[in-house]
Amino acid sequence: MRRAIYPGSFDPATFGHMDMIERSSRMVDELVVAVLNNSAKIPLFSVEERVSMLEEITGHLPNIKITSFQGLLIDHAREVGASIVIRGLRAVTDFEYELQIAQTNRTIDSGIDTVFLTTSLEYAYLSSTIVKEVASYGGDISKFVPKQLMDKIYAKYR
Ligand code: ADP
Repeated sequence: MRRAIYPGSFDPATFGHMDMIERSSRMVDELVVAVLNNSAKIPLFSVEERVSMLEEITGHLPNIKITSFQGLLIDHAREVGASIVIRGLRAVTDFEYELQIAQTNRTIDSGIDTVFLTTSLEYAYLSSTIVKEVASYGGDISKFVPKQLMDKIYAKYR
């Protein structure tokens, strides 16, 4: 059984994340989408909210599991039995940081490899930060996030 883990903040999930989830889930038997509970950042959505939103928007995909974790990604990957880490590359600015993390993780556990998917061109600019910025001014986010999430995002700024 080939299982991959796709970690991130998903605060909130965007069409860019969805694209990554759909494409990478076709390459493996099971894809674990893991929400990072990062105590260093104050998120817009709680971990529970992010997990439940991801469950809602990935409900149509058969082989997705949503989890959350704190601490080292490698520990959580081992916990769920994943040997592949999926990360997305949007621009060269992502590359240096991602390379460093991937190499660190492989040094810690040589049994876990990172696979990078390049972003689909239509979502290359898209990030959770951009979504929050536009939503905070009441702008239209329908091109950025699945429609089930729109009201939940606007509600945070009311
Ligand atoms: P993190 O805080 O770990 O970067 P994010 O939720 O911002 O968490 O991103 C999770 C993963 O999804 C990262 O690998 C990131 O590169 C990728 N990603 C984010 N937005 C996009 C996008 N528009 N297209 C492709 N990949 C993306």
